[in-house]
Amino acid sequence: MAGLLSGKIALVTGGSRGIGRAVCVALAAEGATVWINYAARSDAAEETAALCEEKGTPAKIVPFLVEDSEAVDKAIEQIKAESGRLDIVVNNAGISRDGLFVRMKDADWEQTLQTNLSGAFYVARAAAKLMMKQREGRIINISSVVGEMGNAGQVPYVSSKAGMLGLTKAMARELASRNVTVNAITPGFIDTEMTQVLPEGVREEHLKAIPLGRFGEPREVASLVAFLASPSASYITGQVIGVNGGMYM
Ligand code: NAP
Repeated sequence: MAGLLSGKIALVTGGSRGIGRAVCVALAAEGATVWINYAARSDAAEETAALCEEKGTPAKIVPFLVEDSEAVDKAIEQIKAESGRLDIVVNNAGISRDGLFVRMKDADWEQTLQTNLSGAFYVARAAAKLMMKQREGRIINISSVVGEMGNAGQVPYVSSKAGMLGLTKAMARELASRNVTVNAITPGFIDTEMTQVLPEGVREEHLKAIPLGRFGEPREVASLVAFLASPSASYITGQVIGVNGGMYM
């Protein structure tokens, strides 16, 4: 189909559900061929693929754990072999292990940092090698508003998401001369399985802090990803852009 991303090849980590699924569909709607990554939920990844194909573009599924650097390298090789190139990478896979940090186990800290921050590093590193040769590419990192403002009970998650902002800016500087842009999006509270598990009282408390008075929808993050991946965003790099209903200004 014709669209702003017609002919482009995209990889979305954690594309099976939530924000990642909406991103896959938004990129497919603009004509990109999307590689959908997931960790465990093959059923959900299949559903995302079907939604992309409804938009008239083929979708592919590539399971791997983002924190497994060898598996990441193999997946990028597979994409290069089958699709010939890689134009857009969305580092969206993420987990949260919450609780008071003084009681937190090493494993929860390490797993959160490994998935959210090391995972984004491994995927961007492998993808950037192709993009540099192509002299073109877009890397979009899904961080979080709490990486900008902090949040009690989420020390590992906040640290990983703040780390993604440094990663974005340093990579943007290294890759700019090759016409590869790197940007971060910081969503606020978006209605997905990640936030649906929050107790009702906590959800209500968060709502009070959102000037627009509601949680966001995954498609409201996805539309910014599609813009940043498009030719209209060719002069934007190293930026952190909030989609948060005004909760952080
Ligand atoms: P979600 O509904 O919990 O979905 C998480 C996605 O990540 C799933 O596709 C999951 O795959 C995948 N995933 C988890 N661990 C993985 C791993 N080790 N390797 C590969 N894939 C993995 O999350 P979401 O709410 O859509 O959030 C998506 C991103 O946005 C996350 O980075 C999150 O931190 C960020 N974010 C979310 C919010 C929010 O309010 N929801 C706000 C700010 C930022 P499976 O389906 O196979 O489990």
